[in-house]
Amino acid sequence: MIRLLDKSVADKIAAGEVIERPVSIIKELLENSVDAGAKMIIVDIKNGGKSYIRVSDDGIGISEDEIETAFLRHATGKIFNLEDLNAINTLGFRGEALASIAAVTRLKVLTKRKEDSEGTKLTIHGGKVVSKVVTGCPDGTTFIIEDVFYNTPARKKFMKNDGNEASKIAEFVSRFALNYADISFKLISNNSVIFATAGDGDYKNTIMSVFPTRDYANLIEISHEENEILVYGFVSNPGLTKTTKQGQIFFVNGRIIDSKIIEKGIKAGYKERVFSGFPISILFISINPETIDVNIHPNKREIRFNFEKEVIDAIGNAISKSIFKTDGINDLQIPKLKEEMEIEHTYEPEYKTILNTEQVGIKKTLEEKKPLVNSEFSIEPPSNIPFVFDELFIVGYIFNTYIITEDQHENIYLIDQHAAHERIFYEKLVGNYLSKAKLSQPILTPIVINTIKSFYHKSKEWMDILRELGYNISEFGDNTFLIREIPENMTLNQAELFVNDFIDAVNIDKAIVNTIVIDKLISKSCKNAVKGNNRLSEIEQLELLNTIKNCINPYNCPHGRPTFLKLSKSDIEKSFHRK
Ligand code: ADP
Ligand code: MG
Repeated sequence: MIRLLDKSVADKIAAGEVIERPVSIIKELLENSVDAGAKMIIVDIKNGGKSYIRVSDDGIGISEDEIETAFLRHATGKIFNLEDLNAINTLGFRGEALASIAAVTRLKVLTKRKEDSEGTKLTIHGGKVVSKVVTGCPDGTTFIIEDVFYNTPARKKFMKNDGNEASKIAEFVSRFALNYADISFKLISNNSVIFATAGDGDYKNTIMSVFPTRDYANLIEISHEENEILVYGFVSNPGLTKTTKQGQIFFVNGRIIDSKIIEKGIKAGYKERVFSGFPISILFISINPETIDVNIHPNKREIRFNFEKEVIDAIGNAISKSIFKTDGINDLQIPKLKEEMEIEHTYEPEYKTILNTEQVGIKKTLEEKKPLVNSEFSIEPPSNIPFVFDELFIVGYIFNTYIITEDQHENIYLIDQHAAHERIFYEKLVGNYLSKAKLSQPILTPIVINTIKSFYHKSKEWMDILRELGYNISEFGDNTFLIREIPENMTLNQAELFVNDFIDAVNIDKAIVNTIVIDKLISKSCKNAVKGNNRLSEIEQLELLNTIKNCINPYNCPHGRPTFLKLSKSDIEKSFHRK
C-alpha cells in the first residue's frame, strides 16, 4: 500500500538531513539571527547543547500572526519567486530549518518586533504547537531548545559526550564570530562565558577576544591583491607554529571553508621558514564568485577554485611580503650543495676505526643511562653511532641557527640548534616524567591558561601528565587554569608555550591511555618552546654542544629530524670538481 507519510514522520525524516547534532541547530539559528539584522547574539548551552540551547538576538523579530508559519516546511520570509532565488543575499532561504529543529526537540520561541508593544511566546514539542501566548519581552528573538532528539532515540545515541559536542559548538561559534566582526557574540557554556566579542568590526580585536592567548595577540596583518584575488587576514610569525590546524581558518567570499589549495598557498608563503607544524593563518579571501564552485562538498565546507595556481600565488605572496618585511630577513637561497649533504644514518667505513678506539667509552655511557630508558618513549639510544660528539670542535656559526663543527677526520658537521634544543628539552622532560622526584621551580606570578577547548567535561588526566612533568597546575573556573610552578629546566616563556601546545595537542575525544600517547604529546609540544631565531653566543654554542652530547640519543630530535648534517672534505672536493 502506498500512502502519504504522516506530517510529523515526514518532518522527522527531513530533520535528519538538516539537524545532525546540537551544533547544526546553532548553525541554523545563528544564520537566521544574522539574516534578521542582529547586532548582538548570545549563545548559551548546557551539556554540550544536548539538554539546553538558547540563542538570543536583537534582530527584527517575527510578528504574532506569522510566527506559526515560520515553523512550516518551506516557509521563508526571504524569497517569494524564482527571480528572488537568483539574487539571494541571505544565508538561509530553503525555509526548512525551524521546521526541522522543532520536529526533534522541545522548543520555545519568544519574539517581538520593535513596532509592536508586546511579543509572542510559542511552545512547540516534537513539531506540535503546545501553547501560544502574548508576552512582554525585549525586541528581537530568543529560541530556547531543550532535549535535543528526545523523540528520536537512535539519533540521540549518535551524539557524542558533552565535552565533544561543546567543543564542536565552541569551534563553530568562534569561527562564525570571526566572520561577522561587526556583530557582538557571546558564548556561554554551563553558566560560564567562553568568549565575548565587541562587534566593533575590528578583526584583530575579534580574534583576540575569541582566542585570548598570547600567540594570537602577536599576529601579523596581511593584505594583498593579485589577479583580482583579495587576501586579507592575520598570520603568525615564522617562528610560531601550532601542532594542529586549529589556527588555520579560511573564509572565501564570507563563507567558511576547508581548502587544500589555501593550505598550499600558506606553505608557499612561509617558504623554508617553517619546518613543521601549522602557522596560525586566519584568512579572508574575496574572489570573483564565477571562478569558484561551492557545491562540490555536501556540507559545503570545500570549494573548487578554477584558477588554483593564481590563488596559491596570491596567498603565498600576501604572506611572504608581510612576514619577511617584519624581520628584514630575505629568503634563504638554499645552495645546491644541500642535497649532497644528506645525513648518513649508517656507519661509514672511516668511522669504524675511530669507533674501535672509542667504542668502549660510548658503550659504557649508554649502559649507564639504560635504567632511565623506557622503551615506549622515543628516548632509546640510537642503533648506530654516526660519529662521536666529543671529537667535535666549533669552527663557526651561521644563519643564527647552525653551529659548524669539524672533527679530526676531514669532516664538518652543521648542528641545527633548534633540533638539538628540542632533543635536550625532550629528554629532560621525559626524565622528569619517569623520575619520582619532580624538579620544579615556583614562579612569582602564576601563568593563566585560557582555552576554548571544552576541557571542563573531560577527565583531568592531561593535568596529571603536566604534574608528572613538574608543573603545578590547578583548575580556576571553567576552561581556565592556573600554573604556580614550572619544570626546573624551563624558562617562563618556554613553560607557557609548552603548556599551550600541550593543550592544543590533547585530543579531547581520546583517552590518554599509554606512554606512547604521552610520548607523542610531549614531543609535539616541545617544538615551539625551543623555537625562534635566537642568536647563540659562543659560550651558549659550546654549552649546547656539551649538553647534546650527554643526551641518550643526540643524533635526532624527538620528531626524527636529524640534529646534524655531515659534509666531508671529499664531498667538497667533488663539488668543486677537484676529484
Ligand atoms: P529560512 O532561513 O531558510 O528562511 P528558517 O526555517 O530558518 O528558514 O526560518 C523561517 C523564517 O522564520 C525565516 O525566513 C524568517 O522569516 C523567520 N525567522 C527565523 N528566525 C528568525 C529570527 N531570529 N529573527 C527574525 N525572523 C526569523
Ligand atoms: Mg534559516
